[in-house]
Parts: sequence; C-alpha cells; structure tokens
Amino acid sequence: MTRISVYLSSAKRNPSFMKKLGLGFFLFVPAAIFAVAALLHQEPEVADIKDTSSSVSIPVVVEAQRPKTCEERQAGQPSASFRGHNIWSYLCQHKEETYTVSSGDTFAKLLTQRGLSSSQVHDASQAVRRLWDTRDLKVGQDVHFLYPLEGKPVFRGLYLLADPTHLVLLKRVGQDFVADLISVPSITTMVYKESRITTSLFDAANQSGVPTNILIEMIRAFSYDVDFQREVKEGNTFSVFYETVQDTNKKVLSSRNIAYASMRLNDRFLRIYAHKTKDGTTSFYFRDGSSTRKALLKTPVDGVRISSSFGMRMHPILGYSKMHKGIDFAAPRGTPIRAAGNGRIVYMGRFGAYGNYLKIKHNDTFATAYAHIHNFPKGLRVGQTVKQGQLVAFIGSTGRSTGPHLHYEILKNGMQVNPQSVKLPTSEKLSAVEMKRFRQVVAKVEMQMAAQGKVDTAQLVQNR
Ligand SMILES: [Zn+2]
Repeated sequence: MTRISVYLSSAKRNPSFMKKLGLGFFLFVPAAIFAVAALLHQEPEVADIKDTSSSVSIPVVVEAQRPKTCEERQAGQPSASFRGHNIWSYLCQHKEETYTVSSGDTFAKLLTQRGLSSSQVHDASQAVRRLWDTRDLKVGQDVHFLYPLEGKPVFRGLYLLADPTHLVLLKRVGQDFVADLISVPSITTMVYKESRITTSLFDAANQSGVPTNILIEMIRAFSYDVDFQREVKEGNTFSVFYETVQDTNKKVLSSRNIAYASMRLNDRFLRIYAHKTKDGTTSFYFRDGSSTRKALLKTPVDGVRISSSFGMRMHPILGYSKMHKGIDFAAPRGTPIRAAGNGRIVYMGRFGAYGNYLKIKHNDTFATAYAHIHNFPKGLRVGQTVKQGQLVAFIGSTGRSTGPHLHYEILKNGMQVNPQSVKLPTSEKLSAVEMKRFRQVVAKVEMQMAAQGKVDTAQLVQNR
C-alpha cells in the first residue's frame, strides 16, 4: 500500500503522467469490453467473411481483437524516437512517465518517490553509476520511467540521456537491476547561418538561431583579430557553418564543431576554417593557411558580454590617443578579463588612478596592463605564469573611472603603444604538407556550403 501511495503522490506532481494514465485507461477499457463481448457473442457469420451482406460489423470486431502493435501503444511517447533501435522492443513493452528534473531532485530521491526501497535504490544506483555519474543529473533534464502496460504501476526501469548521443537504460530484471549505455540514433548535419548585425552581434546571433555555445566558439576564434568593442558595427555581417546532432525526430541534441566562420567588418572580411593537423589538434586558419592565433588577443575580455550589452555603448569607449594611452572595453561588472597572451604576472594590486591593476610580461619586449579591475580570481599571485585566454581578473570600476570597464594597455619596452596598430610577430603558417591537406579541407567545406545553396556572398568576390 505504501508503494502505491508514494507512487500516486509522485504522479500528482506530474499531471501529464496522470493524463497519460487516464488516457490509457479510457482507451484500454472500451477495447477490453469490446473484446470480451466479441468472445461471448462469437457468432459464426462474424468470422465468415464470404457473407458480404453481414460484413458491416466485421471490421470493428477484428480491430478490437487485434493486439496493439508497439507503434500504436507508443505513439506520442518519447521512446518512439527509438523505433527500429534494438532497445525498442523493451521500451514498447512499457508505459512511460516523463519527469523533468527540478531543483532539489536527486537520482535516489526520484527512485524512492517511485516506490523503491532503500536497498533497491542502492542497487539501481550502483548499476547506473558504472556507466554514468548520477550526480550529473541536471535541472531541466528529462527522466523517463517505465511501468508495465497493464496492472499496478510498478517501477520497471528508466532511461535518460547521459550525453547528447548516449542514453542510460536501467532495467529491472527480477530482483536485480541492469544498466546499459546505448548509442542514440542520431543524424549529423552541417548548418549554415548568416546574419546581419542591427543592434548587437549577440542579438543577431539570437535572431538567426545560432546557439550560444557556437557564438562563444566563434567569438573566441576571432578574438585574436577583432576588437569586438570598436570594430563590430551596425550593418556588418557574419556567417557560421557548424555541425548539429539531431535525433530521428529532427530535434537538435547538440551543436558543435565550427567548420567555417566569417565576419564582414567595415573595412575587412575575415574567413576562418577549422583544420586538424596531423598531430591531432584542431585550430582555425585563414584561407591562406596562416593561423588565427596571435601573440596577443585583440579582445582580452569575454567577447560575448561585450557583444550582448548594447547599452554599454553609451559609455564612452575610448581608443588610443596622446591623452589616453590605452583602449577601453566596457562590459558589466564581473565580466571575465583574459590574459592577452602567455606570460608572467609582474604586478597585481592597487596602482593610483588605475585602481586595481594587473601587469603581465610576455617577453623581453612586450607586456600588457589591465586597470580598474573589480577583483582577481582566487589563487592568482605575482610571479605566476599564465596562458593566453586564461581568466586573470574581473571587470570593475576601481580608481579614476566613470563606470565598469577595462582599461587595456600594451607596453613595448615599457612604453604604452597603440593596441590597434601595434605590429606583432606574424603568426605561424602551415607547412607545405599540411597546406596541401588544408586546401582540401577548404574545398570540401566550400562545396558543402554551396550544396546547401549557401555561399558566403562576400566570398564569391574574394575567391577570385
Ligand atoms: Zn581607459
């Protein structure tokens, strides 16, 4: 009895499941009555199809007696995506409850709510843990619980997505629990998106349906070359060609791996291509085979935050001048500041009008400085070496400052120089052998885009 009352209380919190149960009941009961009635009143002429005059009632009786197929039972259920998959026969022998994880839920709690004893919860969790860390259960994630098609709703198992292309299936086998990791049937497609910037890069990406993780990857890739504060203007365009993984219902499970991206700014057009070199590392290269990586980042701040905060443009964004020997990046307080290049921290702390100040020495010639910092990440200290792109501080408004922003300086032999025009050592180029492979990658990507009828309009001109 306890089991059932616990079960019902969990079902109450999930009205859609109650609806499913109710729906199943209403479908099942009339069908059963029909089947029983048909058995009781089995008249020979019903089965005798030759008698065409009385054939009117035949189809109804035949339909009612016919056992429902997996497809019919599971129509509309999430597991219908696995039709034809080797787990399909198991899933279609069960009824499903889809539960969306909310805060405070744990894997064990969900099982307890569905009537499992503490030792059963332990065994079930152990079985799953060999394949997937149950602590990875996320708010908003769906867990599908399985119950017998008929009779008491006793827990028979569950399945959930462990990652975009794998699911964990837990089965109750007698008194035991068995778990399997199963590849999700999925389709990988390349997607091309192009967008014109009207308010901000972030809004443009949003409007054209570019997922945030793709936007972040794209901004990171361009951060060596583009000053996202000053260079991205209204009317500029960008495009991105990346991979999506979809389930068999065409639902996008994940977006990843940018193959190509372009940005058309006021006075230049940048195109980058992902290329995996023979040592196994994937990096972005321009069409001529030169790496996008530079010794220093042009935007040493989380570019997404700059690109999303249109209001920040109201703040005076100063460029380099005789009076202002650095450039400013305005972004909300707390926005991550990233080391512009590999180096060693030589100063960290209060420094007059600069407020909280950080200085990184990159080599005998160059250093970079960051001012008006709000605070530093825990554990960072003077003398420490940092990697390019590493989080080194958070944007603030300390010292002589009118609002949250980063004041950024490049120092050449100890003197401030203009970050927008400083000549940095040229980036590495691909070797002749790699160049040959890279050209094939470029040709393939451009063909894939052309096949979708999506040729970067500016590219046509540039390729000549
Ligand atoms: Zn400044």
